[in-house]
Amino acid sequence: MTQQIGDGGEVMGFTDQQPHTVTAKDLVTPWGGGKNGKYFRCYLCGHKFKLGDVFRWVFSNRGPGNFMVCESCDGEDVIDRWAALYEEFKASSTGRFWRFTRDD
Ligand SMILES: [Zn+2]
Repeated sequence: MTQQIGDGGEVMGFTDQQPHTVTAKDLVTPWGGGKNGKYFRCYLCGHKFKLGDVFRWVFSNRGPGNFMVCESCDGEDVIDRWAALYEEFKASSTGRFWRFTRDD
């Protein structure tokens, strides 16, 4: 599956749902708004991607949306695990933590 970004018809590599090898450019790309790759991490285990790692950008309409995953966390049930991680976070952040999530 590929997805086109904008109206230029340009297909960006990370939107094709396929595994990609981390390039030097990826390491300084402001993924998720973090300058110089600050947030270029596996969303499941927290691994900080390094040159030559394999990562995949996953489209998800569950949990808090799309996410990146490392090669060792990836798998058929990766979206289920992402949604479960989010549920775990929400369950642990109710009550006295309401101010930080504003979602209780
Ligand atoms: Zn991972």
